[in-house]
Amino acid sequence: MNILVINSGSSSIKYKLFNMPSRALLKKGVIEHIGEKGSKIKNHHLGLRLILKGVNSVDAVGHRVVHGEENFTKPVLINAKVIREIKRSCAIAPLHNPANLTGIMACKELLPGVRQAAIFDTAFHQSIPQQAYLYGLPYELYTKFGIRKYGFHGTSHEYVAFEAARILKRPIRKLKLITCHLGNGCSMAAIDKGKSVDTSMGFTPLEGLVMGTRCGDIDPALVTYIMDRKKMGLKEVDYLLNQESGLRGISGISNDMRVLEERSRQGDRRAKLAIEVFVYRIRKYIGAYLSVLSGCDALIFTAGIGENQKGVRARITKDIFKHLNNKPKIMIIATDEELMIAEKTYRLVKSGKIS
Ligand code: ADP
Repeated sequence: MNILVINSGSSSIKYKLFNMPSRALLKKGVIEHIGEKGSKIKNHHLGLRLILKGVNSVDAVGHRVVHGEENFTKPVLINAKVIREIKRSCAIAPLHNPANLTGIMACKELLPGVRQAAIFDTAFHQSIPQQAYLYGLPYELYTKFGIRKYGFHGTSHEYVAFEAARILKRPIRKLKLITCHLGNGCSMAAIDKGKSVDTSMGFTPLEGLVMGTRCGDIDPALVTYIMDRKKMGLKEVDYLLNQESGLRGISGISNDMRVLEERSRQGDRRAKLAIEVFVYRIRKYIGAYLSVLSGCDALIFTAGIGENQKGVRARITKDIFKHLNNKPKIMIIATDEELMIAEKTYRLVKSGKIS
């Protein structure tokens, strides 16, 4: 069965075509600059048409969908009801869900009759207990507007956790794991018996670790303070926190950790500082999750920085488990969110389950 995995963003569509169950990757690519000024690809429909021209046969499609709120705790086959729910979640995820939906609608038109599945970034974290997902805010904000921690990168955390169990040759139900997805976006998860019990991102992907361009945890009073001091509007402050902060903001150089390591080696003080703040925040979360899990069998690193940057990993792990009798294994596992989406889609289509 050939499964096309689609990750549809606001101006790009990334895709991979897998043969399942062999897991063979048949094709992959990305269409960029969709709808941008001067681009020949005016919309997602045209982008997808281009992708389909290059692939032979598609038996099912798996879509990455960023936000499923509390409606989706697992992947589902897409029907009219699912589309309505994803549309409803656009209010909570205005940057991501509309783009994901555009990919779904384009596939529906261009591949009539081909089954499509939605795999949600938030679903894996739906097992987080209430004391961990509620904020210290008026309870009505949760009941009326769904304001709570959701968490993201769920597909990646789940994938590396199950891979770790496979590599360790131990059943996942016996493992306590801390997973660190360190890419441009960064998040961590505490995973007990294969279930997420806490994660660093929140209502949006802005909470938690210091990231490439996102600030992560800050004093919430700073938002209005910055708006006042810098005479900023809502959009501007949102841009500052999401695009001008994190590694880029502290270093004043780049959001790319490779560049920062290089500049730090050359003696750049701010590049060094950005790395130190980045590392410190992760160490703090590791401490928190050790306590949440009452121990840990393995600390797992994944994504661009986690997989490739030995120096950063060494700073994070230096003496961190010195005080523990049972020291967690430190593992590096390459994430493959698309393969995970293909597997989930395959299982759903085979079982023929409708949501
Ligand atoms: P994204 O969140 O955009 O998928 P990645 O997982 O590709 O991000 O991670 C990007 C970060 O990883 C950057 O800070 C980059 O410097 C760092 N990095 C280090 N080595 C590599 C590598 N070989 N490939 C990609 N990113 C790398």
